[in-house]
Amino acid sequence: MAHQWRGVIREYAQRLPVGPATRIISLGEGGTPLVFAPALSELTGSKVYLKVEGMNPTGSFKDRGMTMAITAAVESGAEAVVCASTGNTSASAAAYATQAGIKCAVLVPDGKISMGKLSQAIAHGAELLQVNGNFDNCLDVARKLSENYPVFLVNSVNPARIEGQKTAAFEVVDFLGDAPDYHLLPVGNAGNITAYWKGYREYAESYISATAGELPAVSTKTPIMWGFQAAGSAPIVAGHPITEPDTIASAIRIGNPASWQQAETARDESGGLIDSVTDEEILAAHRWLSSKEGVFVEPASAAGVAGLLKHHAAGNVPTEKTMVITVTGHGLKDPQWALRTADGSDIEPTKVEFDVVSVANALGLTGL
Ligand SMILES: *Cc1c(COP(=O)(O)O)cnc(C)c1O
Repeated sequence: MAHQWRGVIREYAQRLPVGPATRIISLGEGGTPLVFAPALSELTGSKVYLKVEGMNPTGSFKDRGMTMAITAAVESGAEAVVCASTGNTSASAAAYATQAGIKCAVLVPDGKISMGKLSQAIAHGAELLQVNGNFDNCLDVARKLSENYPVFLVNSVNPARIEGQKTAAFEVVDFLGDAPDYHLLPVGNAGNITAYWKGYREYAESYISATAGELPAVSTKTPIMWGFQAAGSAPIVAGHPITEPDTIASAIRIGNPASWQQAETARDESGGLIDSVTDEEILAAHRWLSSKEGVFVEPASAAGVAGLLKHHAAGNVPTEKTMVITVTGHGLKDPQWALRTADGSDIEPTKVEFDVVSVANALGLTGL
């Protein structure tokens, strides 16, 4: 009998802080495809897979954490949640709060979020405020709001978010049969690299579960973690906060990551690195994914692939390894980037008359 994926909380209940009486708020998130990337694999001589997180219910990995955060909010009796967002957190919080029947307030940087993400939050009825400031300013206000008013914070500083997001590492291991040798991903507020590292570690160690007692180790190893920030927003690489972060990759336009320390721990414990990639490298990776691998992502999502291409060009990528790259959000979130060439000019579809000869000519076909 076909098995329908039941969302990350039900699939991994033994490894999450939920009990039998918990009312689970879920849109069926997780269970996303781990897609073999033939072109990247051929280039590097390693087996490269893409964890395609754009396939989550609201189109980004944020849903994994949000199912846990909204479930925890409801369990605590909250009637309203708040988040700061570069876009995807607000889209996700708004959707899950709607299912829970609670209010959702979102603070976004003025003019800096894509139309796809903005429309999701509005469609789901969030109270959306455009704040005259950047993401870091929004998070600061959201935190203070949750400390002084009756609203529950659902940003990734909330540990429930990290718990939910660690399930992506479980899925990778469950699919491959062991942890990969390398895991690459974009780094913004650094919640996701923190969560993957937690998940990989829990699968490599025996795990004491609140509901199931001791669970045996699932994998034999943990991967080397490679995280990539955008060059104009690379505080961890620079070693200090960036007051005016700048990049076309809006989902990682963050100058002072909330999980900075944890990201460094993931890097250091795994023997990995956190590096930066330029907007040009991000857009080249974005184009590589859509034109060579058949996977359409939003620009920020391509940062991990940009990092692989950069390090391959520098001769730092080993052959015959297994590598997983998380591509974090769907291309339809922010589709404008597909409609311009590498040199920045607009791409216009060719117009034709409706007769077969004109269409054949336009396609460069000759008759049989
Ligand atoms: C949130 C987000 C990121 C960054 O993840 P962090 O956990 O903040 O490091 C990257 N890509 C997309 C599409 C996102 O929505």
